[in-house]
Amino acid sequence: MDSTPVVIIGAGPAGLMLSHLLHLEGVESVVIEQQSREEVEKTVRAGILEQGTVKLMRRTGVGERLDREAEIDEGIEISIAGEAQRIDLHKYTGNIVAVYPQHEVLIDLIARRLADNGEIWFNTTVESIEGHDTDSPSVTYVKQDGTKATISAQYVVGADGSKSLARKIITGEGGQRLKHEYPYAWFGVMVNAPQTNRELIYATHPEGFALISTRTPDVQRYYVQCNPTDTVDMWPDERIWEELHKRVDSEKVTVSEGEITDKAVLRFRSAVTDPMQSGRLFIAGDAAHTVPPTGAKGLNLAMSDISILAPALARAVKKSDVKLLEDYTSLALPRIWRAQHFSYWMSSMLHSVPTGDASNDRFQTERRLAELKTVISTEAGRQLLAQQYVGYDLPEFEV
Ligand SMILES: Cc1cc2nc3c(=O)[nH]c(=O)nc-3n(C[C@H](O)[C@H](O)[C@H](O)COP(=O)(O)OP(=O)(O)OC[C@H]3O[C@@H](n4cnc5c(N)ncnc54)[C@H](O)[C@@H]3O)c2cc1C
Repeated sequence: MDSTPVVIIGAGPAGLMLSHLLHLEGVESVVIEQQSREEVEKTVRAGILEQGTVKLMRRTGVGERLDREAEIDEGIEISIAGEAQRIDLHKYTGNIVAVYPQHEVLIDLIARRLADNGEIWFNTTVESIEGHDTDSPSVTYVKQDGTKATISAQYVVGADGSKSLARKIITGEGGQRLKHEYPYAWFGVMVNAPQTNRELIYATHPEGFALISTRTPDVQRYYVQCNPTDTVDMWPDERIWEELHKRVDSEKVTVSEGEITDKAVLRFRSAVTDPMQSGRLFIAGDAAHTVPPTGAKGLNLAMSDISILAPALARAVKKSDVKLLEDYTSLALPRIWRAQHFSYWMSSMLHSVPTGDASNDRFQTERRLAELKTVISTEAGRQLLAQQYVGYDLPEFEV
């Protein structure tokens, strides 16, 4: 194959959902992915699906297993030094979030694309994108055996994650990359253990933040706040358990222990690229923006970009109507900035940032906790947090 209407770089949530939605509109595409299918289907990342993402998966025929297997959460807990307050997401929004790991979403999308005879080229790396400012852009890729080839398209989409090759073209032409770095990170572990709690616990404590989340009844995902410069060898199992118990345990809850099967340091960054397009090249998902994990928005934002980009590309390919495509950046950015704000706000309310100046540290901690207590102890505060946590409906456009 040496041409296709849309070339998509990356088989993450953004790239796979885009090719699925295009197919439903009768527009074919090729997804090029540098990893093997097995690697893609095993990478542990996001776990919380907003109600908009759940509805999108159901509406487009890839929600069957999610409906069978996902755990539905109607609330979250916020704990301050062991004292927990539940935020009833359902009461304040009428909606829920689903706990369904990202790799399960990818397994479902890959299975569906292949059943629909879709083209996903695994073990194939895009090296360069050419002619995005012409009517016939193309992509040069290298296969696993080292052979190089080129495929041309009407449109190219970089859904190629946070180190995006496609984004570098846009920023190289004057596009802005607006960034913020945080002075803390998360140390994340995957544990074979029974559930500590049915719902997520966001715990803030003088020693730092911790998050208790669950993947399945037997597999748990825990995080503790750490320094961005920490490495895995600085966190032996005993230290992890000690910090988790200290930060989370209460009269009602004791962190359940088990075999730790994965450890990783997760750095915190916020970034937005503006614009998210140049000529016939578009970027979506982590290629365009990054959020810290506190608000659980990354995967969901990828899905919201795609719910604009897919109908826009379908209109352009089928009807030569490019109006929606031209408006892609301006339609996508307001939601991205809201998610940036929510992720930043949650992060800053929940994490301690010691500076070494005892008086200033105490001032910052007391102010931060006053803000958090105001939010979780008032109807207005709980409603605001709940609405942003479950997210807003995804936009729908006729093709
Ligand atoms: C530990 C962790 C926990 C998270 N938790 C949450 C959460 O609870 N909720 C949430 O919403 N988000 C969460 N996120 C964020 C979420 O995982 C990402 O936002 C999401 O993966 C973005 O999807 P994407 O398709 O844009 O990019 P990616 O998933 O990064 O996919 C990009 C793909 O492109 C491929 N690629 C890159 N370059 C090339 C190339 N040159 N050629 C071919 N292929 C290429 C990559 O191999 C990759 O498969 C978490 C992230 C991490 C790391």
